[in-house]
Amino acid sequence: MPAVFAALKGMPDLVSPETDRRRALVDAFATAAGRAGYGEVQSPLLEDLGVFLRVGEATDVVTKEMYDFVDKDGTRIALRPEFTASLMRMFVEHPPATLPWKVWTTGPAFRHENPQAGRYRQFFQLDLEAVGAADPDVDVEVIAVAHDFFRSLGLTQVSLKLNSLGDESSREPFMAALRTHFDANRDGLSEQSRITLEKNPLRVLDSKRDYDQAVISSAPQMIDFLSAQTAAHFERVQQGLRAVGIAFTLESRLVRGLDYYTHTLFEFGADALVSSQNAIGGGGHYDNLVEQLGGPSTPGIGFGLGIDRILLACDAEGVFGAPPRMVAVFVVDTTGGSSAVALTHELRRAGIGAERSFDGRSMKAQFKAADRSGAAIALVVGSNEEADGTVVVRDLRASDQVVVPRSDVLAEVQRRLVANPLRLP
Ligand code: AMP
Repeated sequence: MPAVFAALKGMPDLVSPETDRRRALVDAFATAAGRAGYGEVQSPLLEDLGVFLRVGEATDVVTKEMYDFVDKDGTRIALRPEFTASLMRMFVEHPPATLPWKVWTTGPAFRHENPQAGRYRQFFQLDLEAVGAADPDVDVEVIAVAHDFFRSLGLTQVSLKLNSLGDESSREPFMAALRTHFDANRDGLSEQSRITLEKNPLRVLDSKRDYDQAVISSAPQMIDFLSAQTAAHFERVQQGLRAVGIAFTLESRLVRGLDYYTHTLFEFGADALVSSQNAIGGGGHYDNLVEQLGGPSTPGIGFGLGIDRILLACDAEGVFGAPPRMVAVFVVDTTGGSSAVALTHELRRAGIGAERSFDGRSMKAQFKAADRSGAAIALVVGSNEEADGTVVVRDLRASDQVVVPRSDVLAEVQRRLVANPLRLP
């Protein structure tokens, strides 16, 4: 016997009904984004490695976790570890006629991480970006789309953390103050954080290691370094969020793993999940990303949400289960002729979900399958009915049945489904 293969570590297979639930989740997101004027875009899974290197040089996501390889023609390419860099490459390559460019996308992203609950090597994100308007109201709009989406799933325990990273003029003195603080307290930092400090003192704030926490909690805070202009931007964002009724907490140590953010930064947490997996998404404003990729100086803001984690949060809150199946009718056939195939297809062509058994199963086995399918109605074709030109219509919910002429079956099924509709997605 040949050896069997297993899916790669951290790359789960997904099957129905989980896949149905994921599709419904993406639909809910498309609705929330579409209502706010965002259109779907799709970028390739693979990009020139440079796209990601250019925007995330000092980040673990890019330096340690990216799947990159040399293509057959010698080009260095990478599987996307996130969406924003790809979408900015798209923006620069095909400049939109009007701004802001308001787009969303979804699909798999890849990071070579240590797999655990809620952390995979292939995971799925929803991403939304608004590019080309600096107005703080755009920040509010973007956050509100995510908020509305979470609500539409039925999630109630999602918290929003908010920070401002300032602009370049306010960030330089902050970085200098951070470096002085961390240098003076090197002994209180872990080995890894000391290495991070050499590259980017800001990222030390992102450390989740217990050993670092005392030094981090006494570090200078960005909020004290904001220029008048960035402080005003941040104040407007907060006012806007209050105006639309979105609660948030200010979190001055929030920095997030990617380096390109300026101004507003935010993260959504699922309070129903344990802290190691409760980050369900986040994002922020960026001023330099488009320019870094060779485009004109253009502000933008966006977020990435983790579909896998959001579904864990839904499980924890007991909301947004798999949508009901589409099968309304089950055709039971004991004749072995072509009646079942004809009847099943007639129903499907009329827009009614219909299933049947194969391989000449017993009547009992077929009724069991009918129950499992979730169908509301069973249509029974036996040799007597075939001889009479009739079909038995059995209502599986009411457990009554009638015999109707073959030519009236469709109308009878439609009448019953209208009178007592299935909760179809
Ligand atoms: P990030 O770009 O790292 O901020 O990721 C945005 C969101 O994607 C996170 O908040 C998570 O919900 C999700 N996410 C990131 N990495 C993974 C992963 N390895 N497995 C599952 N979800 C992830």
